[in-house]
Amino acid sequence: MQLIYYPVTVKSVIHNFNAGPSVLPKEVFEEASKAVLDFNHTGLSILEIGHRTSLFQPVMDEARALVKELMQLGDKHEVLFLHGGATTQFMQVPMNLLNENDIAAYTETGTWANKAIKEAKLFGHVEIAGSSKATHYTSIPDDLIVPPTAAYLHITTNETIAGTQWHRLPYDCGVPLVADMSSDILSRRLDFNRFDLIYAGAQKNMGAAGVNLVVINKEIVGKVNRAIPTILDYRNHIAEGSMLNTPPVFAVYVVLLTLRWLKEQGGVDAIEKRNDAKAALFYDTLDSLPLFKGPVAKKDRSKMNAVFTMDNPELEKEFMECCKKENMIGVKGHRSVGGFRVSMYNALTLDSVQALTGLMKEFATKKG
Ligand SMILES: *Cc1c(COP(=O)(O)O)cnc(C)c1O
Repeated sequence: MQLIYYPVTVKSVIHNFNAGPSVLPKEVFEEASKAVLDFNHTGLSILEIGHRTSLFQPVMDEARALVKELMQLGDKHEVLFLHGGATTQFMQVPMNLLNENDIAAYTETGTWANKAIKEAKLFGHVEIAGSSKATHYTSIPDDLIVPPTAAYLHITTNETIAGTQWHRLPYDCGVPLVADMSSDILSRRLDFNRFDLIYAGAQKNMGAAGVNLVVINKEIVGKVNRAIPTILDYRNHIAEGSMLNTPPVFAVYVVLLTLRWLKEQGGVDAIEKRNDAKAALFYDTLDSLPLFKGPVAKKDRSKMNAVFTMDNPELEKEFMECCKKENMIGVKGHRSVGGFRVSMYNALTLDSVQALTGLMKEFATKKG
């Protein structure tokens, strides 16, 4: 096989608004590529070392410890890195927590919540505790009705496609709280200890695709009476320290690098301030320009994924072309929503948001 080595060149700035996989810090890309060639000056690639070696074990240990530190988790919670994407958690959660004749409460807030609901129905009964279906998922339900006998309440803290986010969390729902945080994990301060299970695919805000973060309160497992396949039983992963089988070693390493970066930035507090500033700049601009419309209720707007449209499809096309010319990628709205969606994850810089809002203003002036 002939290998061709391309020289690494620095291209002009690309503003990456992709929804996922998405932008990560440049330092993470650099460190990760070094590790592929020579991991920690061992002369070995991270891709060729055993997961139970003294080389990799510290990677897993540090990644788990950093999640605990950044989320300020107490002793009750375990941190796991599992295979299969957040989609696997849609079924793994009810398989481990919901008995066949019991009820789980779910909030119906968009595409992702609905996928979770569909899987839960395979294992038990689902009651919708709150829904924004009637507003085409442009809001988050204000009031929830949670049956006190429910095995848990499931929420999707950030709906990546609809562009909504829970800003008032239902901590006091009276039953164990389970959250899909795939698209806003570690983007803001939350009382993480008040969740009994948190899961997130890494590829939106904390690393490369191929690994899931699961944060779980040890006390909620072991209460269902069905047989659970070994690899899907949280208890086995907890007992084995997330090393039940070969973990996705490279993806875990990229998560570790991203967590280290986050800590260097000042942790969740600091990143939240930056995310707030980016979101404020974006939404203030949106609201100041009548040409652009934001369909989401203001109180429920996502600081991670902002969706917007224009009344005129021709103008939408034109604006899309302008974005392309300015090296702005990933701005097209999800096919189910249309218009535009810009994702402003932790690693997206304020500069990128400034470039976008600058372009929006310029475009509005030209067309206004
Ligand atoms: C992307 C996403 C998922 C699906 O993640 P996979 O890793 O592709 O399975 C689930 N939930 C939310 C909120 C997402 O944004």
